[in-house]
Amino acid sequence: MSVFSSCLEVGFFKNISDQVPVGVMVIEPCSLQIVYLNKVASLLVDTLRRRFPAVRGSALSGAIFKEAIPRLYELITQFDGISNAVRITFGEDVLDFSLSRVMMESDSSVALLIMWQQVAQQIRAEEELLRLTCYDRLTGLQNRSTFIKELTKALSSPPEPEASAGLFFVDLDGFKLINDSHGYAIGDRVLNVIARRLEIIGREQKGCVGRTGGDEFALFVPHCTQETAEALACHIIRTAQDPIILPDGGSHQIGASVGIALSSHYKISSEALLAQAHMALYDIKTKNKGNHCVFVPRMECEHRHRAELEEMLREVLPQKRNMFVFYQPIVELCSQRVVGYEALIRWYYPKRGWISPNDFIPVAEESGLIQELDRFVLTTACHEAMRWQNGAYVAVNVSATYLGQSALPELVRVTLAETKLHPKRLNIEITETALLRHKAESIRDLRALRDIGVGISLDDFGTGFSSLSHLCSFPFDKIKIDKSFVQESEERNDCVAIIRTVVQLGKALDARTVAEGVETQTHYDLIKADGCSLGQGYFFGKPAPSQTDVVRVQQIMESLQA
Ligand code: C2E
Ligand code: MG
Ligand code: MG
Repeated sequence: MSVFSSCLEVGFFKNISDQVPVGVMVIEPCSLQIVYLNKVASLLVDTLRRRFPAVRGSALSGAIFKEAIPRLYELITQFDGISNAVRITFGEDVLDFSLSRVMMESDSSVALLIMWQQVAQQIRAEEELLRLTCYDRLTGLQNRSTFIKELTKALSSPPEPEASAGLFFVDLDGFKLINDSHGYAIGDRVLNVIARRLEIIGREQKGCVGRTGGDEFALFVPHCTQETAEALACHIIRTAQDPIILPDGGSHQIGASVGIALSSHYKISSEALLAQAHMALYDIKTKNKGNHCVFVPRMECEHRHRAELEEMLREVLPQKRNMFVFYQPIVELCSQRVVGYEALIRWYYPKRGWISPNDFIPVAEESGLIQELDRFVLTTACHEAMRWQNGAYVAVNVSATYLGQSALPELVRVTLAETKLHPKRLNIEITETALLRHKAESIRDLRALRDIGVGISLDDFGTGFSSLSHLCSFPFDKIKIDKSFVQESEERNDCVAIIRTVVQLGKALDARTVAEGVETQTHYDLIKADGCSLGQGYFFGKPAPSQTDVVRVQQIMESLQA
């Protein structure tokens, strides 16, 4: 049956067909003669005539495609009446062709209808969408979800039966500091440079690289043994440390820590391999930054232990069940008087006994529970200090994660108002690590605290990231010399020298020095001779519960002995 029943309709069809952004061409299959073409199709024919000399003088037939678009010519000449679709790149254009049968109106014979659409723009849009959803916008590397997909795919098809693969998590050390002190543009530049360096390593190893977090990258290496993995990790760390040239001509250096998980014979799921590499990264980040380590089952035990601690903390925190604040005297060496007490948290969990703050404070920090703990200690300690007759100050430790968020000065103000404790009787202890996290914001919080009138001590001085610049960045009232120096002072002359130097430094900066961990008469004699202002340690008194808690703590102690 004919498609058009009147001349009017034929004209109507041509009109419409000339207006659509689609090429339409009808070819007589035997002679290949072009019997119809719309405007878009004419444009293509004109282009072919311009570009290909052989087409220029030829008749209007399907043969014009022979040289110009051979793939299309092949399909036309081999057309067997079954609809066909093909994507062909022609110069800068990408054309989606469809070939199908059509009945000729005049004699009901079968003709070949070719239609096409320009899809280059659409492809570009699709590619852009793919880039946005699968790749990291800043570095162009695979994003987390794409990397995991690629990893899953790679693990499911080992290159050979005996092959072993390696997954590397690379985390930059001190990246936050760069962002905070130099701004995001420099931070972005650092990430981009590191991404390019890792990309080269990934290519050399025939693996894949992704950015899996802010300053965290992942690298999958299809062939890896423990030995080659460790050598590669050292290479990654060295490469990351190469100076990064900044737009202003200056340069920057950054460290990296690497956690590795090995998959022997590819017999592991991507989830398990990712978890193992993460545990290895956590281990190296917390114990030995700037280095690498390979996952071992011990890390899984520690991870489980931390998860259990977090669960236990969440369970007891609402009521602070069996959580106490103990107080340890701080003695003024010249007068031998107790002038202050450090408030130290203690936690008893029946199935586990007493749990050291060194174990649960880091877990509380990582899980965001620390603020509640610090609030509890601060309010309890301020209430307690109001009961002391000797007017001693109370020193309260504040976690690194609390400082720099503006919440601390307000909490201190409210607590002092509530408990009526004089600001001079409160001392806040912070560590250098706390300063490192968000330096500008932390200093702002410290200034606000000083404006309230509370004292501020730099705790554990000499450990971790000690730097004289920390001492200059804020006028601390007290510098607490870490207990390790006092405790090793009997065997190590360098520890004695450090104590002496810090005391001198304190004098120059108008800060009092507190020697921590004084356990023996010898320690006492040494710190006194060296000119420390204050001392703290078992020699003067162990941390002890308040009058309110003494009975309950006694009961716990007795139950443990029974
Ligand atoms: P820190 O602030 O340096 O506290 C001093 C630590 O040294 C305390 O350990 C104390 O019991 C211990 N110590 C005191 N004298 C001696 C001594 O003569 N010899 C030895 N070997 N140790 C002594 P503790 O209570 O286990 O606390 C460990 C760390 O946990 C503290 O170090 C502090 O950083 C943190 N911490 C303790 N309580 C709190 C708290 O309420 N909040 C926060 N955020 N951290 C706390
Ligand atoms: Mg302290
Ligand atoms: Mg300390």
